[in-house]
Formats: sequence, structure tokens, C-alpha cells
Amino acid sequence: MRAIVVGAGIGGLAATLSLRRAGVEVTLLEQSRRFSEIGAGIQLAPNATRELRRLDVLDAVAAAAAHPAHVSFRTWSDGSEICRYALGREAEEEFGAPYLVIHRADLHNALAAVVPPESVRLDTTVVAIDQDTDSARVTTATGEHLTADLVVAADGIRSAARQWLFGKDEAVFSGTAAYRAVLPAAEMSDLDLPPLAVWLGPDRHFVHYWVRRGELLNVVAVFSTDEAARESWTAEAEPDEQLGEFTGWDPRVRTVLERAGQVLRYGIYTRTPLTRWNVGRVTLLGDSAHAMVPFQAQGAAQAILDAAVLGDALKSATPADVPEALDDYVGRRLASATGMQSRSARAGTEFHLPDGPEAEARNARMAAYAAEHRFMPQAPAWRADVRGRPQ
Ligand SMILES: Cc1cc2nc3c(=O)[nH]c(=O)nc-3n(C[C@H](O)[C@H](O)[C@H](O)COP(=O)(O)OP(=O)(O)OC[C@H]3O[C@@H](n4cnc5c(N)ncnc54)[C@H](O)[C@@H]3O)c2cc1C
Repeated sequence: MRAIVVGAGIGGLAATLSLRRAGVEVTLLEQSRRFSEIGAGIQLAPNATRELRRLDVLDAVAAAAAHPAHVSFRTWSDGSEICRYALGREAEEEFGAPYLVIHRADLHNALAAVVPPESVRLDTTVVAIDQDTDSARVTTATGEHLTADLVVAADGIRSAARQWLFGKDEAVFSGTAAYRAVLPAAEMSDLDLPPLAVWLGPDRHFVHYWVRRGELLNVVAVFSTDEAARESWTAEAEPDEQLGEFTGWDPRVRTVLERAGQVLRYGIYTRTPLTRWNVGRVTLLGDSAHAMVPFQAQGAAQAILDAAVLGDALKSATPADVPEALDDYVGRRLASATGMQSRSARAGTEFHLPDGPEAEARNARMAAYAAEHRFMPQAPAWRADVRGRPQ
């Protein structure tokens, strides 16, 4: 069985590893000249780390990550703690895999390190995908044609493959944007910051956590905005723009934002849920299928789960079975990933409530939940995502 995977992001790399474990020969095509991930952090809940273990990369990922003992939710203006939930060893014991926070480049490197170089073609842009009954074919920008038994389009939120399969359909602006920065931990040691915290305020929230074994602090400052235009990972904000957006916030938040210097500004987009991701021998995977707002920190995790289930679905398939195997993959993933898209959107609304009775009721609800439960409300999904799959 031969597969072509388009896109070497976290989803495409995980799919390559998972398919190889299923005995599929994979060619991974990536438009960039070299493997690269933008410098920022990413949270990996146990539903993702459990699958990384199955791909034999968890040890490398865990060695490069930070292992927060808990997550603290705080009030924007004075930093008072609304509630906290256990992560660390308690989560690992409960869910059978750790909750990690990691620099994206470290995760990307750990995945890329175990993909054989001969399986990868960098500097290769796919410009078309087509298929007949027996095979699928990609065309590259240089006019080359490559055929395989299946094509997995892990080409991200701006997926061209999604349009080729399902017609014109643009990414949808979420009405939020984020400032992102990664800072040396040594410069923050005087601030006594918790290992992972989410500060909630009107129309804004602020997330920070240590990455790279605690050597770096990752910062994400999300705010509501009508300005959809600036959407690149690499768009620099105006100097000190972030301080204007976070006026009146707790001094620790403002100090972090001040020390961040010039930050990146990133418009947050989503994709409208689809009713299917596959046509014949071609399927979407990861953000191309289900890009979501990052307020449950689950986008990459869902891509990793897609990869795991795709490998399972292909394991005992023959080339003739591919369309059916892809139906099986999508059937097992679509409802769960779509549910996570809407849970993420709801979390954003809850996080951004204005001061007043609604925010007070939210805080009381969160505190009451935390008094009853050790783990975050989304924790059951860390278990449920793999239910029914062989471990
Ligand atoms: C602010 C923010 C914070 C986030 N935080 C978290 C978090 O804490 N936890 C979490 O799980 N997720 C998080 N996410 C989501 C996560 O980043 C994405 O869901 C994940 O990276 C998607 O991976 P992907 O492989 O599907 O797509 P991408 O990473 O976008 O990869 C797509 C790849 O395809 C390549 N490509 C595109 N078109 C072509 C083509 N035609 N030919 C060849 N190659 C092509 C691209 O160059 C790229 O390498 C966050 C997202 C944002 C915006």
C-alpha cells in the first residue's frame, strides 16, 4: 500500500508515522524548503500524548516538554484564583498519559526525527489532486505527477485540497486575534508565575506556560477584534500594541507583555464543519478538515488523533479497500473533531464575558466544579476520544 501525505505540519508528520506503522509506504510532500514550525508553545493533553506514545515519540517529546502540576484560572484585574485543576502526575495516573506543554518546534522536531529522510520531499508544492477507481494522483508545481493508493491532505487551515474536494470554501475569521511570544524564563523569575495559567477578562484572555523544560515562557494574549486582515503567523504587532489591549490588567500580565517587546499578532480563523472529509481515495486530516479556535488547546491533538485512527483504519486494508477504509477513518473521527470545534468556540465566549453578573456566575460555576472534580471539565474528552480503539 502506498500513500502520499501533503503537508509536513504536526498532522502530516503524525499521519506519516501512523501510516508507516500500519505497513503503508509513505511519501510526504511539503512546500517549505525545510521543516519548520513557528516559535510558540502548544499544550498536549493526554488524548494526544497517549497517541504519541503509540508512535514511539512520547519519550522524546516528554524530554523536551514542561510538565505542569496544575492549571490555574485567574481574574484579569487582580490575579485572584477562580479555580485550579490538577495536571501533572495525577492526570497521568488518571488518563494513562501525561499533560505536557512544549515548544512547537520541539514537538515538530521529535516527530520529524523518526520520519525516514527518504520518505520526505521538501520544496514540493502540490497544485492538484485527482483520482480514478484504482489510484490517486498529485501534481506538483514543477509539473511532476506522483501516484499512490491514497492521498492524505494535511495541508492546514488554508487547505487547497479542501477546495479541490468540496468546492470553494474560505477560512472563517473568528472575531479574535492573538499576540504570541516566547520569552527566556530567566527574565521572568521575579514574577512567581504558576506553571500554566489562564487569566479571564472582558473580551480578552491571557495564557502563559513554561515550555522547553521550563527554560522558556510561552505567552498567548487573545482579544476580540473586528480587524480580520492581519492573519499571518509572522505579522509583527506595532511596538507595545499589546499593552494598549491589556490596559488595567494585573501588573504581572502587563509586565510579561512589556518584557515581550515586539510580539507577533495572529488573526484566529476556523473552518466550517464538513459532513465528510473524504472522496474516494483522498482525505483531509488535521486543520484542513476541522480547524478550530484554540480555546480548548486541542487543534493539534485532534490532528494527532486523526493520524492514529487513519493508521488503524488502513492497517489490514488492501489497495482496493482504500475508499472503505477512509470512510471508516472519517466515521470514527468526524463527530468527535466537530464536537471539539464547537466546544472550543463556546469556551471563547465563556472566557470573554464582561465584568458583571454573568462573569460572576461563570466564576462561581468554575469554582464549584473544581471543588467537586480534580480535572478540567474537558478532561472526559481526553478519555473518550480513543474509546473503542485497540490500545
Ligand atoms: C494561537 C494558537 C494556539 C494553539 N494552541 C494549541 C494548543 O495548545 N494545543 C493544540 O493541540 N493545538 C493548538 N493550536 C492548533 C494547532 O496549532 C493546529 O491545529 C495544528 O498545528 C494543525 O496542524 P496541521 O498539520 O493540520 O496543519 P499545519 O500545521 O498548518 O501544517 C500544514 C502544512 O502543509 C503545508 N502545505 C500547505 N499547502 C501545501 C501544498 N499545496 N503542498 C505542500 N505542502 C503544503 C504547509 O507548509 C504546512 O507545513 C493552536 C493554534 C493557534 C492558532
